[in-house]
Amino acid sequence: MAKYIVLLGPPGAGKGTQAQRIAAQQGLVHVSSGDLFRENLKMETDLGKLAKGFMDRGELVPDDVTIAMVKERISRADCVKGVLLDGFPRTPAQAKALDEMLAGLGQKVNIVPLIAVPAEVLMARLSGRWTCPKCGHVYHQVYSPPQKTGLCDEDGTALIQRDDDKPATVANRIRVYTDQTAPLIAYYHDQGVLAEVDGTLPIEAVTAQLIKAIG
Ligand code: ADP
Ligand code: AMP
Repeated sequence: MAKYIVLLGPPGAGKGTQAQRIAAQQGLVHVSSGDLFRENLKMETDLGKLAKGFMDRGELVPDDVTIAMVKERISRADCVKGVLLDGFPRTPAQAKALDEMLAGLGQKVNIVPLIAVPAEVLMARLSGRWTCPKCGHVYHQVYSPPQKTGLCDEDGTALIQRDDDKPATVANRIRVYTDQTAPLIAYYHDQGVLAEVDGTLPIEAVTAQLIKAIG
Protein backbone atom coordinates (compact mmCIF):
# COMPACT_ATOMS: atom_id res chain seq x y z
CA MET A 1 0.00 0.00 0.00
CA ALA A 2 1.45 3.34 -1.03
CA LYS A 3 1.79 6.07 1.58
CA TYR A 4 0.78 9.69 0.98
CA ILE A 5 2.00 12.19 3.54
CA VAL A 6 1.33 15.93 3.44
CA LEU A 7 3.72 18.14 5.42
CA LEU A 8 1.75 21.16 6.54
CA GLY A 9 3.13 24.31 8.15
CA PRO A 10 3.91 27.98 7.48
CA PRO A 11 6.82 29.12 5.27
CA GLY A 12 9.99 28.52 7.27
CA ALA A 13 8.47 25.83 9.51
CA GLY A 14 11.06 23.32 8.30
CA LYS A 15 9.05 21.28 5.77
CA GLY A 16 11.83 21.07 3.21
CA THR A 17 14.49 20.43 5.84
CA GLN A 18 12.52 17.57 7.34
CA ALA A 19 11.43 16.13 3.99
CA GLN A 20 15.09 15.90 2.94
CA ARG A 21 15.90 14.02 6.16
CA ILE A 22 13.05 11.51 6.14
CA ALA A 23 11.81 10.89 2.58
CA ALA A 24 14.43 8.40 1.41
CA GLN A 25 14.57 6.71 4.81
CA GLN A 26 10.80 6.14 4.64
CA GLY A 27 10.93 4.95 1.02
CA LEU A 28 9.03 8.02 -0.16
CA VAL A 29 9.66 10.51 -2.95
CA HIS A 30 9.97 14.13 -1.78
CA VAL A 31 7.69 16.28 -3.95
CA SER A 32 8.02 20.02 -3.26
CA SER A 33 5.74 22.25 -5.34
CA GLY A 34 8.07 25.20 -4.64
CA ASP A 35 11.05 23.21 -5.99
CA LEU A 36 9.03 22.23 -9.09
CA PHE A 37 8.21 25.89 -9.74
CA ARG A 38 11.87 26.90 -9.19
CA GLU A 39 13.00 24.23 -11.70
CA ASN A 40 10.53 25.65 -14.22
CA LEU A 41 11.83 29.15 -13.52
CA LYS A 42 15.42 28.02 -14.13
CA MET A 43 14.49 26.23 -17.36
CA GLU A 44 12.46 29.31 -18.44
CA THR A 45 9.41 27.20 -19.32
CA ASP A 46 6.00 28.82 -19.92
CA LEU A 47 4.93 27.57 -16.50
CA GLY A 48 8.04 29.14 -14.94
CA LYS A 49 7.32 32.47 -16.64
CA LEU A 50 3.72 32.36 -15.41
CA ALA A 51 4.73 31.44 -11.85
CA LYS A 52 7.50 34.03 -11.48
CA GLY A 53 5.34 37.10 -10.77
CA PHE A 54 3.30 35.29 -8.13
CA MET A 55 6.41 33.88 -6.45
CA ASP A 56 8.21 37.26 -6.45
CA ARG A 57 5.21 38.83 -4.69
CA GLY A 58 4.89 35.95 -2.22
CA GLU A 59 1.46 35.05 -3.60
CA LEU A 60 0.16 31.63 -4.54
CA VAL A 61 0.37 30.48 -8.14
CA PRO A 62 -3.21 29.84 -9.43
CA ASP A 63 -4.74 26.52 -8.43
CA ASP A 64 -5.32 25.10 -11.93
CA VAL A 65 -1.68 25.21 -13.05
CA THR A 66 -0.37 24.17 -9.61
CA ILE A 67 -2.70 21.17 -9.42
CA ALA A 68 -1.82 20.06 -12.98
CA MET A 69 1.93 20.31 -12.23
CA VAL A 70 1.77 18.28 -9.00
CA LYS A 71 -0.63 15.68 -10.47
CA GLU A 72 1.80 15.07 -13.33
CA ARG A 73 4.69 14.66 -10.88
CA ILE A 74 3.00 12.26 -8.48
CA SER A 75 1.63 10.08 -11.26
CA ARG A 76 5.18 9.20 -12.39
CA ALA A 77 6.50 5.68 -11.85
CA ASP A 78 8.95 6.61 -9.07
CA CYS A 79 6.03 7.62 -6.83
CA VAL A 80 4.26 4.25 -6.69
CA LYS A 81 5.47 3.50 -3.14
CA GLY A 82 4.32 6.86 -1.87
CA VAL A 83 5.04 10.54 -1.69
CA LEU A 84 6.04 13.09 0.92
CA LEU A 85 4.36 16.29 -0.22
CA ASP A 86 5.95 19.58 0.85
CA GLY A 87 4.17 22.87 0.07
CA PHE A 88 1.17 21.22 -1.58
CA PRO A 89 -1.76 21.44 -1.04
CA ARG A 90 -1.91 25.09 0.01
CA THR A 91 -5.61 25.86 -0.63
CA PRO A 92 -8.86 23.96 0.00
CA ALA A 93 -9.28 23.52 -3.79
CA GLN A 94 -5.83 21.91 -4.01
CA ALA A 95 -6.63 19.61 -1.08
CA LYS A 96 -9.87 18.49 -2.73
CA ALA A 97 -8.11 17.91 -6.05
CA LEU A 98 -5.49 15.77 -4.28
CA ASP A 99 -8.18 13.74 -2.50
CA GLU A 100 -9.99 13.16 -5.81
CA MET A 101 -6.84 12.14 -7.59
CA LEU A 102 -5.85 9.69 -4.86
CA ALA A 103 -9.40 8.29 -4.66
CA GLY A 104 -9.11 7.52 -8.37
CA LEU A 105 -6.03 5.42 -7.55
CA GLY A 106 -7.77 3.72 -4.60
CA GLN A 107 -5.52 5.70 -2.25
CA LYS A 108 -5.86 8.52 0.27
CA VAL A 109 -3.84 11.00 2.31
CA ASN A 110 -2.65 8.85 5.22
CA ILE A 111 -1.19 11.40 7.60
CA VAL A 112 -0.72 15.18 7.73
CA PRO A 113 1.98 16.29 10.17
CA LEU A 114 1.52 19.97 11.01
CA ILE A 115 4.91 21.50 11.83
CA ALA A 116 3.80 24.24 14.21
CA VAL A 117 6.04 27.32 14.51
CA PRO A 118 4.88 30.78 15.68
CA ALA A 119 5.10 33.68 13.22
CA GLU A 120 7.80 35.54 15.19
CA VAL A 121 10.26 32.64 14.71
CA LEU A 122 9.64 32.35 10.95
CA MET A 123 11.27 35.65 10.00
CA ALA A 124 14.60 34.65 11.66
CA ARG A 125 14.42 31.23 9.99
CA LEU A 126 13.83 32.61 6.49
CA SER A 127 16.22 35.56 6.66
CA GLY A 128 19.05 33.13 7.53
CA ARG A 129 18.11 30.45 4.99
CA TRP A 130 20.68 29.48 2.35
CA THR A 131 19.89 26.95 -0.40
CA CYS A 132 21.95 24.94 -2.85
CA PRO A 133 20.77 25.92 -6.37
CA LYS A 134 21.99 22.54 -7.69
CA CYS A 135 20.57 19.94 -5.26
CA GLY A 136 18.09 22.05 -3.26
CA HIS A 137 19.65 21.23 0.12
CA VAL A 138 18.60 23.77 2.75
CA TYR A 139 20.88 25.39 5.36
CA HIS A 140 20.62 28.10 7.99
CA GLN A 141 23.53 30.40 8.77
CA VAL A 142 23.05 29.88 12.53
CA TYR A 143 20.84 26.81 13.12
CA SER A 144 22.13 24.51 10.38
CA PRO A 145 25.32 25.92 8.82
CA PRO A 146 27.24 24.12 6.06
CA GLN A 147 30.67 22.73 6.97
CA LYS A 148 32.39 25.26 4.67
CA THR A 149 30.83 28.73 4.76
CA GLY A 150 28.79 29.43 1.63
CA LEU A 151 29.26 25.99 0.05
CA CYS A 152 26.89 23.00 -0.13
CA ASP A 153 28.04 19.97 1.91
CA GLU A 154 26.59 17.61 -0.72
CA ASP A 155 28.18 18.95 -3.90
CA GLY A 156 30.31 22.03 -3.08
CA THR A 157 28.06 24.41 -5.06
CA ALA A 158 27.95 28.06 -3.90
CA LEU A 159 24.82 28.58 -1.79
CA ILE A 160 22.26 31.27 -2.63
CA GLN A 161 19.53 33.16 -0.76
CA ARG A 162 16.06 32.91 -2.25
CA ASP A 163 14.66 36.15 -3.75
CA ASP A 164 11.37 35.58 -1.94
CA ASP A 165 13.09 35.44 1.48
CA LYS A 166 13.26 39.28 1.56
CA PRO A 167 11.46 40.61 4.69
CA ALA A 168 8.55 42.27 2.79
CA THR A 169 7.90 39.13 0.72
CA VAL A 170 8.19 36.88 3.78
CA ALA A 171 5.57 38.98 5.60
CA ASN A 172 3.20 38.53 2.66
CA ARG A 173 3.86 34.78 2.47
CA ILE A 174 2.99 34.40 6.15
CA ARG A 175 -0.23 36.41 5.58
CA VAL A 176 -1.09 34.22 2.58
CA TYR A 177 -0.49 31.09 4.68
CA THR A 178 -2.85 32.35 7.41
CA ASP A 179 -5.58 33.32 4.92
CA GLN A 180 -5.42 30.51 2.35
CA THR A 181 -3.54 27.53 3.80
CA ALA A 182 -4.37 27.49 7.52
CA PRO A 183 -7.99 26.38 6.74
CA LEU A 184 -6.45 23.03 5.74
CA ILE A 185 -5.68 22.37 9.42
CA ALA A 186 -9.42 21.95 10.11
CA TYR A 187 -9.92 20.10 6.81
CA TYR A 188 -7.40 17.39 7.73
CA HIS A 189 -8.37 17.41 11.41
CA ASP A 190 -11.92 16.54 10.33
CA GLN A 191 -10.53 13.66 8.24
CA GLY A 192 -8.76 12.37 11.38
CA VAL A 193 -5.29 12.51 9.80
CA LEU A 194 -3.75 15.63 11.40
CA ALA A 195 -0.75 15.16 13.73
CA GLU A 196 0.79 18.31 15.22
CA VAL A 197 4.51 18.39 15.99
CA ASP A 198 6.47 21.15 17.77
CA GLY A 199 8.52 22.78 15.02
CA THR A 200 10.40 25.08 17.41
CA LEU A 201 12.57 22.21 18.66
CA PRO A 202 16.03 21.52 17.16
CA ILE A 203 16.00 19.90 13.71
CA GLU A 204 16.86 16.38 14.99
CA ALA A 205 14.09 16.49 17.63
CA VAL A 206 11.51 17.53 15.02
CA THR A 207 12.64 14.64 12.81
CA ALA A 208 12.15 12.20 15.70
CA GLN A 209 8.63 13.50 16.34
CA LEU A 210 7.75 13.27 12.66
CA ILE A 211 8.96 9.69 12.35
CA LYS A 212 6.83 8.80 15.37
CA ALA A 213 3.79 10.55 13.84
CA ILE A 214 4.27 8.86 10.46
CA GLY A 215 4.49 5.46 12.15
P1 ADP B 1 9.98 25.41 4.73
O1 ADP B 1 10.32 24.36 3.73
O2 ADP B 1 8.88 24.99 5.67
O3 ADP B 1 9.72 26.76 4.13
P2 ADP B 1 12.80 25.16 5.47
O4 ADP B 1 12.94 23.68 5.67
O5 ADP B 1 13.36 25.74 4.23
O6 ADP B 1 11.25 25.61 5.68
O7 ADP B 1 13.46 25.86 6.76
C1 ADP B 1 13.55 27.29 6.85
C2 ADP B 1 14.89 27.67 7.50
O8 ADP B 1 14.85 27.30 8.89
C3 ADP B 1 16.10 26.98 6.91
O9 ADP B 1 17.17 27.89 6.90
C4 ADP B 1 16.38 25.80 7.85
O10 ADP B 1 17.77 25.46 7.89
C5 ADP B 1 15.91 26.37 9.19
N1 ADP B 1 15.29 25.36 10.07
C6 ADP B 1 14.47 24.34 9.71
N2 ADP B 1 14.07 23.63 10.79
C7 ADP B 1 14.63 24.24 11.87
C8 ADP B 1 14.61 24.00 13.30
N3 ADP B 1 13.89 22.99 13.82
N4 ADP B 1 15.31 24.82 14.09
C9 ADP B 1 16.04 25.86 13.57
N5 ADP B 1 16.10 26.14 12.25
C10 ADP B 1 15.42 25.35 11.41
P1 AMP C 1 7.93 27.22 -1.17
O1 AMP C 1 9.19 26.74 -1.80
O2 AMP C 1 7.02 26.11 -0.72
O3 AMP C 1 8.17 28.24 -0.08
O4 AMP C 1 7.12 27.97 -2.33
C1 AMP C 1 7.66 29.12 -2.98
C2 AMP C 1 6.57 29.81 -3.78
O5 AMP C 1 6.09 28.95 -4.84
C3 AMP C 1 5.30 30.19 -3.00
O6 AMP C 1 5.43 31.43 -2.30
C4 AMP C 1 4.27 30.27 -4.14
O7 AMP C 1 4.41 31.45 -4.90
C5 AMP C 1 4.69 29.10 -5.03
N1 AMP C 1 4.02 27.84 -4.61
C6 AMP C 1 4.62 26.73 -4.10
N2 AMP C 1 3.70 25.78 -3.83
C7 AMP C 1 2.49 26.29 -4.18
C8 AMP C 1 1.15 25.80 -4.12
N3 AMP C 1 0.87 24.58 -3.63
N4 AMP C 1 0.16 26.61 -4.56
C9 AMP C 1 0.43 27.83 -5.06
N5 AMP C 1 1.66 28.37 -5.12
C10 AMP C 1 2.70 27.60 -4.69
